[in-house]
Order: sequence, then C-alpha cells, then structure tokens
Amino acid sequence: MTTTYNFCAGPAMLPADVMLKAQKELINWNGLGTSVMEVSHRSKEFIALAEQAEADLRQLMHIPDNYKVLFMHGGGRAQFSNIVNNFLGDNGRALYLTSGQWSRAAVKEAKLLVGEEAIDELTIVNQDDGVKVVTLPKLIGDKNDYRFVHYCPNETVDGIEIFENLTSPWPVIADMSSTIMSREIDVSQFAVIYAGAQKNIGPSGLSLVIVHEDMLSLPSLAQSSVMDYRVAAANGSMFNTPPTFAWYLAAEVFKWLTALGGVKAIAQINCQKAQLLYQCIDENDFYVNTVAVSNRSKMNVTFQLNDDALNSKFLAQAQANGLVALKGHRVVGGMRASIYNAMPLSGVEALVTFMNAFAKQHSA
Ligand SMILES: *Cc1c(COP(=O)(O)O)cnc(C)c1O
Repeated sequence: MTTTYNFCAGPAMLPADVMLKAQKELINWNGLGTSVMEVSHRSKEFIALAEQAEADLRQLMHIPDNYKVLFMHGGGRAQFSNIVNNFLGDNGRALYLTSGQWSRAAVKEAKLLVGEEAIDELTIVNQDDGVKVVTLPKLIGDKNDYRFVHYCPNETVDGIEIFENLTSPWPVIADMSSTIMSREIDVSQFAVIYAGAQKNIGPSGLSLVIVHEDMLSLPSLAQSSVMDYRVAAANGSMFNTPPTFAWYLAAEVFKWLTALGGVKAIAQINCQKAQLLYQCIDENDFYVNTVAVSNRSKMNVTFQLNDDALNSKFLAQAQANGLVALKGHRVVGGMRASIYNAMPLSGVEALVTFMNAFAKQHSA
C-alpha cells in the first residue's frame, strides 16, 4: 500500500505516533479500564492531564507567568466574537489589519457584534505586479484610541505569512490558528494569541487562548459565561465540561513536540519542507505561486498550474500516489499543500517528486 500523506488545511493530519498511542490506550487510559473520553473532567487523572498539558505548552512557547492559558470551546472562529465580547465593553474600539480571508472574516464578525463604527479596518496586503506582499504599517496614535489591534500572522487560505513583529501602541491580538508552534515567537509581544486546534494542536472543537492578565480587567460586553475569558481563567477552563478528548490529544501533541526538541527543532524542519516545495514551484514554469518571497507561508503553500484545465487530472493522479487533499480553497482555487508540524519531510519529498514528474509529463 502507498503511504498516504494528507495535505488538508484543517482538520489536518496529526502526528502518527500520537494517533498510535491514542489507539493503544483508547479503551484503557491510565489503567482506569475506561477511555479518557469517559472520565470526569474533574477527576484527579484528568486534572493531572490538564495541568501537564498547560505546563508543556508553557514550556514549548516560553509563555510568561503573567499570561493565562485557556482551553476553550468553539474553534478559532469562536474567538472572533470572544475577543469583541471580552474586551470591547463600554464603547471600546478596535483596529483590524486585514491580509486575507481569515482576517477579513474576523472583521465581519466584530462588526456584526459592535457595529461598523467601532471597528476600523486597514488592509496591509498589496498586489505588486500580480504578487501579493504585506507591508506592516507604522502604527501610531493615542493609547486610548483602541482597545486592541487584531491581525492574522498566517492566512491559511491565501498562503500569506507575516514573519515580522507588529509594533503597536495598542495591545496586539493575533489569530495564530495555522501557525502556532510552527516557529519560535516572543509571546510577550502579544496581548492575546488564539488558535483553533485542528491545524497544529489537535482535533477540531478546541481552541487555545493565551491572554495577558491585564486584558482580563478590560470592560466586557454582556456575554455567555462559557465564552467569558475571566470565567474560564477562574475555573481552570472547566466552568462547564470541556472537550476532554480533544484536550487529551492536544496534550499528546505537546509531548510529541517536546520529545522532538520543541518549537525550535520543528521550525527547522518546517523551513526545510517549505523551501523544498517553493523551490519545486519556482523551478517549474508549470507552477505559479503569487505571494512575495518574504510572505510565503511555511504552513500553507498555495500554487496554480499554468493550465487550469489540468487541475482535476493533477488532483486525481496525486491522490493515486497517496497525496491527498491538495485542492485549494474554493474562494481562491488552484492548489494548496498544508504542511503543518505533523507533516513529515518525507511527505513533502513525495509531493515534490510527483509535481516534478507531472510537470515534465505536461510541458511541451
Ligand atoms: C481554520 C482557521 C480559523 C477557523 O477555525 P474554526 O475552528 O473553523 O473556527 C480561523 N482563523 C484561521 C487563521 C484559521 O486557519
């Protein structure tokens, strides 16, 4: 049987070792004779799991002590509304930088909740000769102008990543759903980092919120208690029943990453994978990527074939070679290879071999 490499943007592949371990202990976790899915989230075994997960994550990302780590429901999008509800009470305003689909979706949700007037939007991506490039603005203004500035360091759909740090007079909130733990970052540069789990953390349904304590004293809007960051922080993310199985798998992913040498080690492999794939795209006239080199995503590599008529043939042949879920997002078309932490180098090597052969076969 051919090895299957899953390039899905999300839910994405999980490390094979983690899946095998979960399978092995599925019906007898921790010697309890039951699955982790079937034990109380308030049991001492689950509390120990939760504490270890948080400790491992803190270590992996070097999270300072004055940040809370929350394991929330609702995926990445839930945080689009949570950041508004938690921080924009008493007529607070926010600035949103947009660079693609996800940052625009966050704006839409914010405006829905607090109205157009409370949200300022600034586009930071430009087309330069058909190439998309991000220019981070010099943000200046009064500290009281905005409660926060929001942006998305990795646009999963567009394949655009922002590697520079944003400097701002206002607290910075980042949607890191598709880039969290893929490379080293300085958490202290951010007031809030959030991420849906299903790209680099674990299964869908769970989302992580890393929030500076000071943010928790901002006035909030009336909101549901299960989505209130203060309530989550005060209750160890267990105000109500959390998605325990997703949390367990996330904990296993953190252990896996730690054993591998942490974020620094995976970042090197991620660079190698991305470089290999972009090199293949650049060396073949048959493939095109339209993102400036400085903003090419290391997690979501988008590309088009120079003949759209060959798209379905490309996808079918790729699939036959065990390379699945390469179809681009319906909004942008083309292809997309998502190469998150769990994608081994061998998966990218197999993809590149296939792409070179396909290009050769179809070039005049
Ligand atoms: C996937 C993704 C989301 C949405 O996550 P859901 O869990 O589906 O709500 C939000 N932002 C970014 C950058 C994403 O990649």
